[in-house]
Amino acid sequence: MKEKETVRVDFESRSHNEQFARVVAAVFAARLDPTVEEVEDIKTAVSEAVTNAVIHGYENGEGIVHMALTIEGRAFTVEIRDDGVGIPDVKKAMEPLYTSKPGRERSGMGFSFMEAFMDQVSVESEPGKGTTVRMTRQIGSEGLL
Ligand code: ATP
Ligand code: MG
Repeated sequence: MKEKETVRVDFESRSHNEQFARVVAAVFAARLDPTVEEVEDIKTAVSEAVTNAVIHGYENGEGIVHMALTIEGRAFTVEIRDDGVGIPDVKKAMEPLYTSKPGRERSGMGFSFMEAFMDQVSVESEPGKGTTVRMTRQIGSEGLL
């Protein structure tokens, strides 16, 4: 039987909390004894999702970002949810280089990084309601058996 355990953290939508979220995710994932690379990949993916919630979901305004971290067997799952503006076309938003904020700062690669660094990425969103990004990564070779 696979043991399943979840922890949840809610934090204010501020860009400096990206750092907090990635460290919390890394500490929780450490229970699976990941490699340095696995931890770095998880941290990068969490950063991208939290940054999106802050700058796109809440448009740099007030709001709460909800993070749920789950370990089940060798699978690590992180869910980042905002109750912000939502995404009108998820498929288009996930295309490499697509950004609704073109300019110097955004490159439109956030979702591409999440997909590159995690095994599975799913996005649920409803305009006016918010967005949930769920990402899973198998930790260690046992995960492949
Ligand atoms: P980068 O991540 O490279 O800085 P980006 O954030 O624009 O640029 P992605 O992270 O790939 O690129 O996101 C693509 C687009 O999806 C965003 O430009 C935005 O329009 C939309 N988006 C992503 N996350 C959210 C969210 N949580 N709420 C609302 N819109 C979002
Ligand atoms: Mg982004």
